[in-house]
Amino acid sequence: MKKIGVLTSGGDAPGMNAAIRAVVRSAIYHGLEVVGIRRGYSGLIQGDIMPMELGSVADIIHRGGTMLFTARSEEFRTPAGQDRALEVIQEHGIDGIVVIGGDGSFRGAKVLCDRGINAIGIPGTIDNDIACTDYTIGFDTAVNTVIEAIDKIRDTATSHERTYVVEVMGRDAGDIALWAGVAGGAESVLIPECKYDIKEIVEKLERGANRGKKHSIILVAEGAGKAFAISEVIRELTGKETRVTVLGHIQRGGSPTAFDRTLASRMGSHAVELLIKGECAKMIGIQGNQIVATDITQALATPRKPDMSLYNLAGVLSI
Ligand code: ATP
Repeated sequence: MKKIGVLTSGGDAPGMNAAIRAVVRSAIYHGLEVVGIRRGYSGLIQGDIMPMELGSVADIIHRGGTMLFTARSEEFRTPAGQDRALEVIQEHGIDGIVVIGGDGSFRGAKVLCDRGINAIGIPGTIDNDIACTDYTIGFDTAVNTVIEAIDKIRDTATSHERTYVVEVMGRDAGDIALWAGVAGGAESVLIPECKYDIKEIVEKLERGANRGKKHSIILVAEGAGKAFAISEVIRELTGKETRVTVLGHIQRGGSPTAFDRTLASRMGSHAVELLIKGECAKMIGIQGNQIVATDITQALATPRKPDMSLYNLAGVLSI
């Protein structure tokens, strides 16, 4: 292993830059050459590759997004696109690649491994929807962005004595809603993995109003239902106006938290160590505060479950 590449792929997540920095600096520390591949697999196919020095990753640890840009590439899903990517890898003398992204990006990394290029995946996605790791890079920052928003919405909700339905990201995984719901003191948390009964939510709202509660916040992950539709049902059942806030893409940006920066630094460094050892098709994770590696195939095949103790706690604390 003499020369490695690093790319970011799929949706961006705060902390990806810290992971790139860790890959580049660890590689140089171990005497490797390192290149940055811009715009994910799309840039790999196009040969959009630049040498990375120690200074290339200066002043990025605190920045959201990704300095290497990110993209989705339909072409890389095709054998012709993969052939071209392989040619580019060989032309540039790249021996191994670190892929920072979500589950789709790991499928791409597996393709590279199957075709003889050592590739290691680092989970970078705000959704925390990847198995075999307790956290993905960007999740903690996204949760902090959501609770900052909830705290502000709460001021208005209390002043106007209103119910707010707040929609957050999470098509298949409700972790952002769940963690932000507990940390932000939401009255109800709706996640795609758990069924809910809107009548029970309304009963809870009415119990709260009867004991003098001034506001209520219902946090809904986008995969659990649309905030406007839920708000309309609540309005019909309670006869009271509700307000809706869809947080959208603000959840993807911003300066990464200390947790995400540290996680990204640890994962990036470990990925380089695995490449040096000749490992392939592994995904880095964190389990019980230990950095671990799992076969990508196993990680992709393992169903990702929400933390039910946290879900139950959200219910207990918002009784
Ligand atoms: P996010 O969680 O933000 O959606 P992701 O990594 O899951 O991130 P995808 O769009 O699913 O995002 O995948 C990123 C890219 O990985 C795709 O555009 C494609 O180039 C590549 N990819 C995904 N699946 C495969 C596959 N089965 N074979 C080859 N390449 C793939």
